Amino acid sequence: MPTLFHKIIRREIPADIVFEDANVIAFRDIAPQAPVHVLFVPKQDFATLNDVPADAPEIVGRLAVAAAQYAKAEGFAQDGYRIVMNCNGDGGQTVFQIHLHLLAGAPLGRFGTPAA
Ligand code: AMP
Repeated sequence: MPTLFHKIIRREIPADIVFEDANVIAFRDIAPQAPVHVLFVPKQDFATLNDVPADAPEIVGRLAVAAAQYAKAEGFAQDGYRIVMNCNGDGGQTVFQIHLHLLAGAPLGRFGTPAA
């Protein structure tokens, strides 16, 4: 089943795309949780992090490196940022094409507490 993010990759629905190369696309989150909130998505299909093969760590590495490059290009790398990948229900994943959240632009609260 194509997800929303597959449709963004195929330009079937609009998004505010900030970066793209042969392997990765990045666009602004529609419901930002920080002043900067960008999603980095691989163009290969993987529903969750659990589905990335052990012999293909570059799939995830490319997302993190693209996020760091974006932070440097946008001038907030030194101030700092957070990257997050949610996995399945307890992780809060809602779109089942893997993606890395990049959050920045203000000091971020702590994380990891169970939802109320
Ligand atoms: P997750 O909960 O980790 O699966 O993250 C999914 C993210 O996708 C959420 O932060 C949503 O706000 C975001 N999102 C959902 N639909 C869109 C869309 N059409 N364009 C951009 N971001 C979206």
